[in-house]
Amino acid sequence: MKRLLLPFNICVLFLAFTLSSCSVAQTTIEAPETKVSRELLENLIEQNRQYTQEGEVADYIPELGKADPNDMAIAVVTGGGKIIEAGDTEKTFTIQSISKLIGLMLAVEDRGEKEVFRRMGYYGTNKPFNHYANLETDGKPLNPMMNGGAILTTSMIKGKGEEPYKRILDRLRYITDNPSIQIDSSVYHSEKSTGDRNRGIFYLLKSNGLIESAEGDESSLNNYFRQCSIAVSAKDLAKIGYYFAHQGTRYDGDDRYRNPEITELILSQMLIAGMYDFSGEYARTVGLPSKSGVGGGITVSVPHQMGIGTYSPALDEQGNSLAGYHMILQLVKELGIGLFR
Ligand code: GLN
Repeated sequence: MKRLLLPFNICVLFLAFTLSSCSVAQTTIEAPETKVSRELLENLIEQNRQYTQEGEVADYIPELGKADPNDMAIAVVTGGGKIIEAGDTEKTFTIQSISKLIGLMLAVEDRGEKEVFRRMGYYGTNKPFNHYANLETDGKPLNPMMNGGAILTTSMIKGKGEEPYKRILDRLRYITDNPSIQIDSSVYHSEKSTGDRNRGIFYLLKSNGLIESAEGDESSLNNYFRQCSIAVSAKDLAKIGYYFAHQGTRYDGDDRYRNPEITELILSQMLIAGMYDFSGEYARTVGLPSKSGVGGGITVSVPHQMGIGTYSPALDEQGNSLAGYHMILQLVKELGIGLFR
């Protein structure tokens, strides 16, 4: 037994060596976000430019058809709120379905998760965003990311007339700390005058007893059209991604709305339904909670790390930005990030 005891000075030497090798190991692990630079983002744009020619700009809302398919932007907000951006980051475009995240957050804040999900499912989907057959077969929307669920969540936000929309706008301005964010009225009128499919969904929800608005009153449907028509930039989308990645703490550290319960819910919906019928393949290839809009934006949350926003209006068949997807895919591979990596 005595022979096993090492002299004190050898023990001290051993301890010092172990501690020093630990600290060497710590300093050599580079956080993925430190690899994000303007140069890296500029390369992503150039290396994925060909995809802008392969997709199609949405024109089922006529005003969206005016977008320039050559525009491309990417922005990343890393820890401590540092913003790195490249491309056409000053260009604004309508947020479209990415607004569904804010609508869901406010509906759950107002009514509680139980009440919201009493009226819709937590399901993923293999159907397009404006699919509605299940309103007839199951009586409820599949999830709050598809149009049926989103029109319903907006109707559950408290406030009369335009107030629910104004609350969505205010929260977006808060999250991005960008008071200049506003509605693109021409997209709103274009969407409202051609939105018969969404109008049909609204009335099916109403006849199923899920929407409580007064008879003939389309004000909550109009609020949905308005929220989709809010104009944002890729930088704003990166800040939204950061906000949900950090449990509701804003990129500058302001945490007055911090709510891990709600952001966990929203991240889970982004993961299973944020890219609609592409969500499964997207989870396999990118593996991060993300949300797309037919305006050409994608917002991505890297939990506890960063937010990413991309813009490129040429879309794939599922209505997701094609070059945006490929820029995100290349970025996550280069940084080695993703829930499953
Ligand atoms: N405003 C669009 C619509 O309701 C939103 C769809 C989308 O961005 N995927 O059709």
